[in-house]
Amino acid sequence: MAGTVTAVVVGAAAWLQSTLNGQLPFFGTPQAANVAAQLGPLLSINASVFSLGSSGFEKATARWQPWQSPSTDLVVKVATEADIEHSIRVANEHGKPFLAVSGGHGGTKGLSYVRDGLSIWMRGMTSVEIAEDGRSATVGGGILSGELAEAFSRAGKQSVVGACYCTGAVAPMLGGGHGWLQGRYGLMADNLISARLTLANATTITVSETSHSDLFWAVRGAGQNYGIVSSFEYKIYDKTPENEKWTYEVLTFRQHQLEDVYRVANTMVGKDRTQPVELIHFTLWMRNPEVDTMNRVIMFYLIYQGSSIPTKYTQPLHDLDPISATPPTTTDLLGVSDAVLVGKESPFCAHSDTLALQRWPVSLESYTPISALRQTFDKLESLPPPYDNSAIIMEAYSLHGVQAVPDESTAFADRGGNMLVAPFIMYPFGDRDVDEQGKEYGKELRDILVNASGNPLNAYVNYASGFESQEELYGHETWRLEKLRRLKREYDPENRFGYYVGIET
Ligand SMILES: Cc1cc2nc3c(=O)[nH]c(=O)nc-3n(C[C@H](O)[C@H](O)[C@H](O)COP(=O)(O)OP(=O)(O)OC[C@H]3O[C@@H](n4cnc5c(N)ncnc54)[C@H](O)[C@@H]3O)c2cc1C
Repeated sequence: MAGTVTAVVVGAAAWLQSTLNGQLPFFGTPQAANVAAQLGPLLSINASVFSLGSSGFEKATARWQPWQSPSTDLVVKVATEADIEHSIRVANEHGKPFLAVSGGHGGTKGLSYVRDGLSIWMRGMTSVEIAEDGRSATVGGGILSGELAEAFSRAGKQSVVGACYCTGAVAPMLGGGHGWLQGRYGLMADNLISARLTLANATTITVSETSHSDLFWAVRGAGQNYGIVSSFEYKIYDKTPENEKWTYEVLTFRQHQLEDVYRVANTMVGKDRTQPVELIHFTLWMRNPEVDTMNRVIMFYLIYQGSSIPTKYTQPLHDLDPISATPPTTTDLLGVSDAVLVGKESPFCAHSDTLALQRWPVSLESYTPISALRQTFDKLESLPPPYDNSAIIMEAYSLHGVQAVPDESTAFADRGGNMLVAPFIMYPFGDRDVDEQGKEYGKELRDILVNASGNPLNAYVNYASGFESQEELYGHETWRLEKLRRLKREYDPENRFGYYVGIET
């Protein structure tokens, strides 16, 4: 219910703004008004508060896509660890749900359970400080993946960050964190040295191998369940002339070539472990009317860390006679993200409140059985409007660094999964029945692949639709969920952090 009390905003620096806005009506709930009134004076000078309808609120709450979005009526843009603590404490006192937000790219069922929530917007905490020995960095909890890659690069460094410029860095890391460099250095979670974590009781602790080590284990794979990361210490590596260049080619195939393409692709990646550390495949099954007005095409990205791609990887695909093939392009780490349409200015990076995008992830051992890929492609092709722009994404990152880390050493449960496949069900947002039908299509597409794989479903937490079981998300070994649940009861007994792929105790 919208209240009509006067806008109450703010920490000291935003005082002027609050005064200027003082005559504006407050459109949030009375609860939001009370929270804002109590919180404002406690916040640091650089923090700000946005209430529903105030200038800046829209930008502060913009999301990558609208399906399952949280509903928020108050935003605190935090600037310090203490701001996070105050926000949690006051929200708890008023029984107000709260949610950390960094890039706004989360899209999973639980988020929609946030009703009239407080958004703890992390974008005021984006610092990067390189340690004197050049082997680690201390990073603010609200930085975007692309910003982090840029900051490292400016310092002559690199590390694993998510492929998409615009996602936050912390959220991918807390769920595992896939990225172009994982073949060399492991997952993002594997590069976490320590994190400052504000807990549900509004106190902040350090988690690391030597401090709250059990929780440190949980934070690396299921981290969103336990607290808000205000800052983290992260491993970084020297950029060298040998490792800073990347080369890619994009080969586009017609749908009837699918079997040949994946027969060849299977000789390079997958469970036989022939994939070298430098090689990545990235495939999109999508519409491209400039190439084929009737059917989706297979856009196959060959990505290689180096200034050229060895012909043993390119030639067999060229021999299949693609409709088009870009010349090899040599670029840097961020250039690879641009190439696969998730760079800073790319369409898949941007926020939208009109295009729904449901993701239905499954991890596979290889591109097999190929007959199931065919069935999946044909099913995708058969989706009627408004789902007819849906797509499938297949990511086959190199795994050497990931699989060098012992399976049981973190809560990330799927180190054996060689490729990340996800149907993307896309449609104009706004009709619940259309959402429901979209879910059915997403499930059907995924089920074809899961059933044919002979393995139980493993779904990457950060891509999860939220309609997966706990085992499918956090691992089928009983001890994993037992440990996560025990820690959840200990550190978040009221389930305040239950909105993002929540662990059910
Ligand atoms: C286009 C696109 C590309 C992607 N590419 C990759 C990729 O290359 N690798 C990969 O691993 N994943 C990738 N993902 C998945 C991505 O990891 C998740 O969507 C993730 O939720 C995005 O984080 P965010 O900060 O942008 O989203 P938000 O919605 O802001 O955050 C998601 C959740 O994370 C939690 N959170 C956010 N900030 C913090 C914090 N500081 N402390 C504690 N919890 C926090 C909150 O629970 C929040 O609900 C991609 C997603 C999209 C849409």
